[in-house]
Amino acid sequence: PVSRAGHLLDDLNPAQRRAVEHAGSPLLVVAGAGSGKTRVLTRRIAYLLAARDVHPGQIMAITFTNKAAAEMKERVADMVGARARSMWVSTFHSMCVRVMRRDAKTLGMSSNFSIYDSDDTRRLITLVARDLDLDPKKYAARTLAVHISNLKNELVDPETATAQATNDLERRVAEVYTVYQRRLAESNSLDFDDLIMRTVELLQRFPEVAEHYRRRFRHVLVDEYQDTNHAQYTLVRELVGKAGGEIPPAELCVVGDADQSIYAFRGATIRNIVEFERDYPDATTILLEQNYRSTQNILTAANAVISRNPNRRDKSLWSDLGEGEKIVGYVADNEHDEAAFVANEIDHLVDSGEVNNSEIAVFYRTNNQSRVFEEIFIRLGLPYRVVGGVRFYERREVRDALAYLRTLANPEDTVSLRRILNVPKRGIGERAEACVSAYAERERISFAAALRDLDKVPMLNPRSRNAIAGFVEMMDELGEMVAREDDVADILEAVLEKTGYRTELEASEDPQDHTRIENLNELVTVAREFTELELPEGADPVPSLPAFLERVSLVADADSIPDAESDGVVTLMTIHTAKGLEYPVVFSTGWEDGVFPHMRALGDPAELAEERRLAYVGITRAQRRLYLSRALVRSAWGQPSANPASRFLDEIPQDLMDWRRVEPSRSAPTAATTWGRSASGGIASRGLSRPAPGKAGWKDAPAMKLEVGDRVTHDKYGLGRVVAVDGAGLRATATIDFGGSGTVRLMLIGSVPMTKL
Ligand code: ATP
Ligand code: MG
Repeated sequence: PVSRAGHLLDDLNPAQRRAVEHAGSPLLVVAGAGSGKTRVLTRRIAYLLAARDVHPGQIMAITFTNKAAAEMKERVADMVGARARSMWVSTFHSMCVRVMRRDAKTLGMSSNFSIYDSDDTRRLITLVARDLDLDPKKYAARTLAVHISNLKNELVDPETATAQATNDLERRVAEVYTVYQRRLAESNSLDFDDLIMRTVELLQRFPEVAEHYRRRFRHVLVDEYQDTNHAQYTLVRELVGKAGGEIPPAELCVVGDADQSIYAFRGATIRNIVEFERDYPDATTILLEQNYRSTQNILTAANAVISRNPNRRDKSLWSDLGEGEKIVGYVADNEHDEAAFVANEIDHLVDSGEVNNSEIAVFYRTNNQSRVFEEIFIRLGLPYRVVGGVRFYERREVRDALAYLRTLANPEDTVSLRRILNVPKRGIGERAEACVSAYAERERISFAAALRDLDKVPMLNPRSRNAIAGFVEMMDELGEMVAREDDVADILEAVLEKTGYRTELEASEDPQDHTRIENLNELVTVAREFTELELPEGADPVPSLPAFLERVSLVADADSIPDAESDGVVTLMTIHTAKGLEYPVVFSTGWEDGVFPHMRALGDPAELAEERRLAYVGITRAQRRLYLSRALVRSAWGQPSANPASRFLDEIPQDLMDWRRVEPSRSAPTAATTWGRSASGGIASRGLSRPAPGKAGWKDAPAMKLEVGDRVTHDKYGLGRVVAVDGAGLRATATIDFGGSGTVRLMLIGSVPMTKL
């Protein structure tokens, strides 16, 4: 069979080939960024199928995002055909959901459990903390949630947490944790961390279940191994099994790079990679040293930065793609100036035909930094997509609609049920809710059961009683659709109609409510598409409601990264989200001490080391062109603050840098800036009145006054005529017909590169 698979080895270097062909003992591939670790993993799967006669059903591969999983599956299918579809390629979380749906009963849960995301978790913890009379100022739900999550990542159960607690905070956390776990169980729900922790529990407590999976999965492969936490590490061990048992251990292959570990705050530990050889004594380690992604200048810069971290194994990563362009540096007056530089540069790169928009990415340290880029991109009509930030599924109306669906799928899901009990308002006040809740707590029955036991709930007034009875009746009617296994899109439509949710929004005067209607329509579309999805070969048919809910619960930021081929848009995202990806052109912004490295890392060597790894990840995403920029002044919490250069910038050898603009010397008049490319006629050259630095930002500049019919000339689009004007102040926009350049909607606030004729 090897001859059939020979072509799978052709375009690999010798070390990569060894990793693909390796059989038997556990295999660790450690290597720097862009050295082909993910390629090796994908290729290894294809090779197992083609050359070693492994059945696709025997393969379990774990990636860091759902999108990466889908891509890996696609690639393997391209190489070996459609039968690749019955492999399990997923994130840790999706994999665990699948296991738990099958085996939840073994743990005494029902298989229609809900999955609580961080927002649900916080709500439930708030309820628990209130019931325990904790002072919310001293014990914020957010903080409690972090502590509980950390315990779960370490596989510490509530009893152990209670026994281990040595100070007041730990005792409180353990107390909340105990009640929280009980409430989750009563709600037939699991939070994200439970998905992993309870799966480990399942495998450890029930050998017959573990055996089922060990028999099935003979190959376990994990990408981005450096970002696994203790619970995930244990899960892998349990899946693989130990030597000497009835079933020989599965073949394990993990790939990772200790220098790219950037999720310590979620409990990830480099230990898992550093001590792999100790944990798996017969392990084989393969190093990859050639980088195929970036030019040498980019690599040298990355190496220079990461080499400052203590306690790391030095790697010698090289590239034969040549030195390439120098790294462009830019010091902006403020964040708006920085965004304008980026936009201007993108405009030039695309105009010159060197790259298209989808080959360009803009990175920043935290999500809130995306706003200034969005403002200017909208103003210039530059198509872009922000990955992450306030996500669709976090919007209030979307969460409300999903809470209805979750309540219907799992009536015990108390958090969802209580969320929608009086939404839209139907006369079930807080007092009535509290009465029901107290009764449920006393009788040790679920909130849903208490709603059906109204006659026995004390202190309820007749009005509330009627309202609740009406609610229960409505939910029962909707429940019939679920029992019939109607399409999820139809159920969702019925929810929006019967509850009056849509009618209420339609009647509202608030323009935001109209956006809400659009979002709900979008959700119906998502549900409709989901119903029409083809089931992958070999997948068990699941009724569409639970399957749909599962899909939306596990959507992560990275899943909305645009595909290079399909969308011609610039991608904006945090460096965290960019892990594992590559772009021909990367703009990495905000290189300032206090921004990147993050403020809270400045006094903490461990956090600083993690930020430096983040810098390494950011730099190594770039293939051909890298831009590093910073702003002298940046507003933080509404206050302008002067930021010094990021220490990481100073660590890059200056001969690799091409500084387009440096910090003006203190004596020089700061207004005499040379940003943009006025000589070559870029967008910065004409009609652009930028306020002097230090004074009010461009946002405070008055909006350009335009009326329908006005004629204008725009630096980029040329002559045009105003066809519509909307909004006022910050939101003022004009829709302008630029003839051959199309019709464009532009923001009018600030320095618009446009002149009224
Ligand atoms: P990261 O650490 O960022 O996850 P990685 O080690 O997983 O990176 P890959 O993404 O697998 O690296 O590979 C980086 C790039 O190099 C990809 O575009 C890949 O196709 C290419 N590449 C890897 N190996 C080879 C090879 N032997 N020949 C040609 N191109 C290669
Ligand atoms: Mg990779």
